[in-house]
Amino acid sequence: MDNKALHDKFRHQFTNVHGLTVLTVSVFEIIGYIVLILSGEEFFSLRNHYLWYGVVFPVAVNAATHLVARWIVRTPNVSRGRKNASIVIAALITSFVVAVIHRAYIVTSCAFIFPIILSAMFNDRKLLNFSFGGSVFILISVGFTLWFCNEISLDTAINLFVLFGFLLVSYFCGIISVNFSRQNYTTIESQAEENSKLLEDVLRDQMTGLYNHNAFVTRLDQLMKTQEGDFCLMMVDVDNFKSINDTYGHDCGDTVLIQLAKTLQKHCGKNDTAYRYGGEEFAVLFVGKSEKEALKTGKSMLEEFRNHSFPFTDRVITFSAGLARYAPDTTREEFFELADRTLYAAKGAGKNRIMLSEK
Ligand code: GH3
Ligand code: MG
Ligand code: MG
Repeated sequence: MDNKALHDKFRHQFTNVHGLTVLTVSVFEIIGYIVLILSGEEFFSLRNHYLWYGVVFPVAVNAATHLVARWIVRTPNVSRGRKNASIVIAALITSFVVAVIHRAYIVTSCAFIFPIILSAMFNDRKLLNFSFGGSVFILISVGFTLWFCNEISLDTAINLFVLFGFLLVSYFCGIISVNFSRQNYTTIESQAEENSKLLEDVLRDQMTGLYNHNAFVTRLDQLMKTQEGDFCLMMVDVDNFKSINDTYGHDCGDTVLIQLAKTLQKHCGKNDTAYRYGGEEFAVLFVGKSEKEALKTGKSMLEEFRNHSFPFTDRVITFSAGLARYAPDTTREEFFELADRTLYAAKGAGKNRIMLSEK
């Protein structure tokens, strides 16, 4: 699962947690109200406006908030930051509605902490500050409502103060969590970068810079499995290379191999890849090209390579190649065999040429 999919998955889970919270709160509001009516409390009778501000209003606001947040989270073009913010704001509104309407600050104290935890988990410092500010605002609103309803006492004031302390501690924990996640993320990122460099080294031939034998086998298997359409294999072998090494030295031999790698790569199309198969043998995979097109490209490669003048010799250096088109239901070994046999047929026919495999 990629990073975006992972974020989406957890964001959906958080949205569901908010939905569940809203549902639970609403059910409690309604059941509580019914129980109180049945108990004959005059204050809660249907004539009293408590029904509207204590039940209908909070249920409606919470449900609407949740639906808006859910809609934002599911809208494809909204940025990740806005989606996260919509859930945190929804959680803040729910906390606010429950805390202010019921003034049950002790019960709802946990609710204040929910947006802070969420912001910390989203690894968003700005959202964390916003949640903290929002929670402080809710706390002040609860205090103000208590004062307005003449319910403030030394006891409630102390409780509110202690709640503020908890809020502050949660906020500091949130900051530590965000910093921890960021450092963790940086470490993981640099490790991933190192891993991809290592993987690249494992798949590359150091001397020529081409992909190596392992990469060739992996790609061939992948092509055979996915059957991405037509593809051809050209096996290439430098002619009389041993004599080049013996006459001019190993370093000059290396120069020839590097030059051949450059030439093969230069003529490769965007779907073709050249590999150093091993020693002085190379392989080219032509993908999405007919045999004829691949042969044409191969001939341009040979033409350019034999016209290259090396500083250490006047000798014309050439290669031979065998080209084969992949036929479905052929095994990797059979396919490779066919191209290799064709290469040796080219050698037998006098070298310095590309031959097409027999059907
Ligand atoms: P043919 O035309 O039939 O292909 O003959 P050849 O001389 O090219 O073939 P042979 O297989 O006899 O020689 C290949 C030589 O390639 C032998 C080996 O020492 C040399 N070789 C393999 N890898 C390298 C390398 O990385 N650098 C250099 N300089 N030589 C290498
Ligand atoms: Mg050879
Ligand atoms: Mg050779």
